[in-house]
Amino acid sequence: MSAPAAAAWDVGRIAVAVFGVAARGRTYTRLLYLLLSLPLGLFYVLLLGSGMALGALLAITGVGLLLLLGCLVAAWAFALFERELAVTLLGADVPPMSAPDRGLLASWKGLIGHLGRSVTWKSMAFLILKFPLGIVVATATGLLLAGSVLLITTPLRILNESSWFQRPVLLPLMAWMVLLGVALILLALHIANWIGLAWAGLARIMLGVAQEERDLIEARRRAEAAERSRRELILNVSHELRTPIASIQGHVDTLLLPPEDRPADATPDHYLKVVSGETHRLGALVEELLDLARADAHELKVQMRPVALAAVVRSVVATFAPMARRERLVAVAHPEALPDLVGLADPDRLTQVLANLVRNAVTHTPEGGAVLVSLASLPPDRVAIDVADTGIGIAPEDRERIFERFYRGDPSRSRDTGGFGLGLAIARELAEAMGGSLTVTSEPNVGSTFRVTLRQR
Ligand code: ADP
Repeated sequence: MSAPAAAAWDVGRIAVAVFGVAARGRTYTRLLYLLLSLPLGLFYVLLLGSGMALGALLAITGVGLLLLLGCLVAAWAFALFERELAVTLLGADVPPMSAPDRGLLASWKGLIGHLGRSVTWKSMAFLILKFPLGIVVATATGLLLAGSVLLITTPLRILNESSWFQRPVLLPLMAWMVLLGVALILLALHIANWIGLAWAGLARIMLGVAQEERDLIEARRRAEAAERSRRELILNVSHELRTPIASIQGHVDTLLLPPEDRPADATPDHYLKVVSGETHRLGALVEELLDLARADAHELKVQMRPVALAAVVRSVVATFAPMARRERLVAVAHPEALPDLVGLADPDRLTQVLANLVRNAVTHTPEGGAVLVSLASLPPDRVAIDVADTGIGIAPEDRERIFERFYRGDPSRSRDTGGFGLGLAIARELAEAMGGSLTVTSEPNVGSTFRVTLRQR
């Protein structure tokens, strides 16, 4: 840049810094905020001050305590309002005043907790500080505005009186006065802007929960969630164990009866088959629980490597097709030509996920239906494996829930799979552990498509 251009550039920058303040909307919202400080500050001081003084005076009676409590609730409500005001008018980045899941002030425990939190007292101090701020701002803006109005209107008055004809020396003086008046207005806007900025910083410190407190609340929330999920897991597992154990016990007890006391159909063969089936289910449950425990401990081991996906799809289809055709009259297939895609995955885990999806698809597809496993590239760097069926579909309200642990769809619609509602939860954990995802699209009575995505190599 040449020297004159650089100088012009600098002048431009200074002009923007000086005059830009008048063109920015934020300046006026800050000014509005500051002008509102006096009436609001006065209101807070009068209301809270008189309420607390009266409450303290009558403290020995129950009424005084009630009054103090009322002041506390009112101060909290005002502080919430002030936070909104600071965010909207000052553009302050104020953290929330409390964690959303806290039953503040609603109970005795909540009240005690509220009294023990620093933000309660800091926000009250903020409300009280508003009054002096209001006085300072009102005085400063009042003085500056009155000065500038005086400076701008005086020359106009002189002009009106036409006396300047007699004394033309007054002309430059009048021009200076108008300029000074404009400069004073600009100065007032700059000062409002600076005070607004400083006040926004104060609002951030005094009206928001401090970072450490937020971290603590978050840690407590997570610990509570973990405890809840542990309790739910124990309940669910006990519930799931009850049925197979009762069935095994019943069948074994019957077999132990003297032959003449057994029901006529109680052949040892049949009973042992039931017992064997139930023990296999229990074994499967234990495996699934172990997978989930590993996922929770972030120990779900996946051995990632490039995998030729067409081969995996062919092998899963080949495993399920004969059984599906024979037992369910459902055709399991893949398109004739599968694209030559290589994904990043653990081949055993991927097979486990796909086997689960195909098994589910076959189970929830009525006779004569079809299950199609296909492959597609998802530009720029992903691949998708779709397991689509022409089955009963999944109701919209169930579409995310089916990925929850122990969730099984409506038993009146689904066939009993004998599963524990853990298959999809594990499949999703595995897909995510491989850097991919598992999602579903579905239409009731038309069919469902489960999609596994993976990174493409
Ligand atoms: P389970 O092992 O008990 O089948 P899953 O987690 O695999 O548990 O499935 C959970 C639920 O999702 C099933 O109870 C069923 O209602 C629903 N579901 C899964 N796959 C399909 C599908 N292809 N079509 C319709 N519903 C399905």
